[in-house]
Amino acid sequence: MHFRTYLLVIFLFAMTPLMHATDYIKVNLYNGSSLRSVGLRIHRGAYVFLVDGKESAQLNGGNSVQLRAEQGKVVYTINGKQKTATGVAFQAQGHEEEFLLRPASQKLKEHKYQDHLIVKARGNALVLVNEVLLDKYVAGVVEAEAGARHTHEYYKVQSIISRTYALANLNRHSAQGYHLCDQVHCQVYHGKARFNDSIPLATKATEDLVLVDQDIQLITAAFSSNCGGKTLNAEDVWSQSRSYLVSVPDTFCLVMPNSHWEKRIPKVQWYGFLKERNFPLEDTTRHEANFYFPSDKNRYFSDTTFSIKSSDVRSNFKLRSSFFTVQDEGEQMYLIGRGFGHGVGLCQEGAIRMAALGKSYRDILHYYYTDVHLIDRKNIDFFRSEIER
Ligand SMILES: [Zn+2]
Ligand SMILES: [Zn+2]
Repeated sequence: MHFRTYLLVIFLFAMTPLMHATDYIKVNLYNGSSLRSVGLRIHRGAYVFLVDGKESAQLNGGNSVQLRAEQGKVVYTINGKQKTATGVAFQAQGHEEEFLLRPASQKLKEHKYQDHLIVKARGNALVLVNEVLLDKYVAGVVEAEAGARHTHEYYKVQSIISRTYALANLNRHSAQGYHLCDQVHCQVYHGKARFNDSIPLATKATEDLVLVDQDIQLITAAFSSNCGGKTLNAEDVWSQSRSYLVSVPDTFCLVMPNSHWEKRIPKVQWYGFLKERNFPLEDTTRHEANFYFPSDKNRYFSDTTFSIKSSDVRSNFKLRSSFFTVQDEGEQMYLIGRGFGHGVGLCQEGAIRMAALGKSYRDILHYYYTDVHLIDRKNIDFFRSEIER
C-alpha cells in the first residue's frame, strides 16, 4: 500500500471531526442581472434588521421591506416609511430562519433563502449577498444543478462534488466581497432546496466530506451530463492535465437520455467553416469524403490528412458533445454524436444509473475520479502536515 494512502486509512478512522460545521459562505444573488429593486418578506423565524451596522428593527414572519438601489445607496421602505443607507442587513436569530426575495423585474423569479442577507448598492444595482451555512448552500446547489428526481445515493455524490467545488473556489469573487456567485460561472443556486427532502438529508449524511488528490489538495470536481461511453482526460479538453481527471470507460450512461444525438448542417455552412480553418477544399475528392471521428474517442476531427480540434467544431456548431461522426448526405452533412457536455470527470447520467443499480457514493466517486481520497474537510491541514514531514 502506498505510504500516504496507509496514513490516510489510519487517520480517517482514528480522527473524528473536531467541531460541527458552522462555516458560512457568502453568495451573491441574482448575479449579473442589474437588479434595481426587490421586495423581501420574512418567511419563517425572527430577524434583526440592521441599518449601517446598527440594529434598527425586529422582523418576524410576514414582515416585509422594499429595497432599491439609488446612486450607490440603498433606499429601503419599512412600515410605509422610506429611508436611505449605505448598507442594510437581515440577521437571522436562529438556524431555521427563511426569507423570500421577489425582484421587481418580471424576468427574475422569486426565491426562498435561508440564514442572513447583506444588502449594498453599486450605482443603480443592488448587491445582495446571502450569508448561509455551507451545507444549506450545498443542498440548494444540488437541487438547482441536478434536479429533484434522483436517488438518495446520487444526491450524496452531488453534495460532495458541490461542497468540494465551493471550498476550492472561495477566492473566486474575493475582489467583489463575496465568495461565489449564484450563476453557472460558479454553481447555480436558487436558494433553499425545497422540492425533495432527500437532498438536505444526503448533504447531511455526507457532512464535511470533500474530495482531495494525493497531495491533499481539493480537486477540480469536473462533471458533465453524459460522456457518451468514455470520459476524457482533462488535457483533451482544457490546457492542463490533472492526475484525477483521467479517461475511464463508462457503459452505465449508454442507456440514458443524453447518450446519443444527431444534427444536420447545411453543406454551405459546413464548408464555410472548413474554409475559415484553412481546410484544403480545392481537391474535389475531399468534398465527397466522409469525414469521421474515429470510434475510439479521438480529440481531432479529420479526413486523414488535415485535422481540426473536435472541440472547435463543437463550439462553432453548438453541438452537444465533441464525440461524433459525419456523413455526407448531399445538401447536408449528417452528424451522429454521443454524450452531452465536455466529458471530463464524473458522468452525471452514468452516476445516476450506478446509484440506481445500488452502487455507493464512494464507489461512484472513485470510479470517475482517479486516485482521490474522501476526507473530512476539517482534517485537511492535518493530512497536509503529515505528507510534508
Ligand atoms: Zn461566479
Ligand atoms: Zn458516461
